[in-house]
Amino acid sequence: MKKLFGFKTCPRCGNKLTPLSSRCHNCGAQLEFFSTDYNNRCGKCTAYIGTEDQYCRYCGAKRGEGEFKPYYDEPVCVYGPPPVNRLHICNECGYEWTTCAMIDEQRYCPKCGHTCKVISEDDPDEE
Ligand SMILES: [Zn+2]
Ligand SMILES: [Zn+2]
Ligand SMILES: [Zn+2]
Repeated sequence: MKKLFGFKTCPRCGNKLTPLSSRCHNCGAQLEFFSTDYNNRCGKCTAYIGTEDQYCRYCGAKRGEGEFKPYYDEPVCVYGPPPVNRLHICNECGYEWTTCAMIDEQRYCPKCGHTCKVISEDDPDEE
């Protein structure tokens, strides 16, 4: 095995890059956007975790657990369909919370880590 001194790898796809690369030519990720700041982030899927939450709402991982790999902190695109208000309820402990997002990706209760379901959805513009 040849040692690859002076090379770094793309944290997203693992492609070998020269130390001067600012962008991965394989997956197009810009290296300046990689972050290891896990303050209020899920260590597994890197989703935002509220200060009161004990579990990730997206993957169910416990706060403070995961691989804590560098993640791609891409600037978010603000265009798209309008957000929808959704009321979630935990299947286990009954905790309820609302979200306002375009796509519903929350699957887990932030309090106990069990699965949740959406009990109502409405368009914030229809008041
Ligand atoms: Zn890459
Ligand atoms: Zn997660
Ligand atoms: Zn719960």
